[in-house]
Amino acid sequence: MPEMPGDPIVILTDPAMLAHNPGPGHPERPARLQAILDALDRNPISGVCRATPSRATREQIQRIHDSEYVNLIDSLRGKHAQLDPDTAVSPSSVDAAYLAAGAAINAVDALLSPLPLGEGSGVRAETLPPLREGARGCVDHPNSKSAARPSPPLPLGEGSGVRVTAPDKSPNSSSTLPEQIRRAFALVRPPGHHAETREAMGFCLFNNIAIAAAHAIAHHHLQRILIVDWDVHHGNGTQHSFYDRADVLFFSSHQHRLFPNTGDLDQIGHGPGEGFTINAPLPPGFDDAAYLHLYQRLLIPIADAYKPQLVLVSAGFDAHRDDPLANMMLTETGFAHLCALVRDIADRHADGRLALILEGGYHLNALANSVLACLRMLAGQEPPEVADSVDARHNQIIDRICDLHARHWQVIQSQSKP
Ligand SMILES: [Zn+2]
Repeated sequence: MPEMPGDPIVILTDPAMLAHNPGPGHPERPARLQAILDALDRNPISGVCRATPSRATREQIQRIHDSEYVNLIDSLRGKHAQLDPDTAVSPSSVDAAYLAAGAAINAVDALLSPLPLGEGSGVRAETLPPLREGARGCVDHPNSKSAARPSPPLPLGEGSGVRVTAPDKSPNSSSTLPEQIRRAFALVRPPGHHAETREAMGFCLFNNIAIAAAHAIAHHHLQRILIVDWDVHHGNGTQHSFYDRADVLFFSSHQHRLFPNTGDLDQIGHGPGEGFTINAPLPPGFDDAAYLHLYQRLLIPIADAYKPQLVLVSAGFDAHRDDPLANMMLTETGFAHLCALVRDIADRHADGRLALILEGGYHLNALANSVLACLRMLAGQEPPEVADSVDARHNQIIDRICDLHARHWQVIQSQSKP
């Protein structure tokens, strides 16, 4: 199927993140990111631009992590070390971790840029900063003569506002400058959502998405951010980062009783944050139809009531049926539906501002194909049809989850799908 002209999407990634190597046989291996990059090269998607991220600053990281922990991570630069039974660093891991957190921050900055992009602002190429070398550019629309020809990237500057450069101005180019960036995907490793304030955990060093959300609050003064975590493991570090706050609504679907064994139904937030943590622990075997039904019944009404100003996704792809670390039954099509669903939430409430940040996903083909499926949704395509019938047992579980959260969110409908 030909790719239709799509919304501009910024991908933030850096080959330096391939140099983080937790060791032989470790599932969170460099080949994961390489598989995604290779798949992107083979399957260019209209509107996708690549940009090189900047490193997060210490101040940005310390919005989530305490200074002694950051000192510990800094002390491991250039070394091999084992931080917990699952989490190890190689000599380049610390730099990769700073870049991963920086990419998540850059993704937020790209969506909340102070540049007058969009709204007919008529940003012109010649008014933009010089091009940055070394990164890949945008993929043009396929009906242009210059389709898939690399054009300059969107360089992101020094952890502050994002600077957007013009596409190639060669005579034959029909590139157009993205008027407004509304979608971003930070393709990063190490992942982040298990990292706690003072502790590396579950392959994660810095909590990239929590750092990005904290940046959106501190730097861009947002008041309501929705984080959707569809990684098959519970995002314990993210939950704990915002557990007593209402300015970040954390929604996680995950396999029950899988690592890290948190995310029970009754973990709903505390104090001013009560009700703003939504956990959906699921039994093994949830498939596309069941996941979609859960998200439609639980996430959509809550998000529509919360009206987020920005939507961030902890985009792990280990709930895929082929993943070796878990037992769910999602396919690429299922991930496309989840992505289209959160995209539409962002469109309704957040001016379209949506950033995905890579977490897990350990089957290389499943991971790469699921990322591609999501990028197509970010580009504005619609997902393929998915079976409409939800297993009766799964329906009962969805009912139970919805009933519990309806205590805080009366917008949740009590009736289940017939
Ligand atoms: Zn995971």
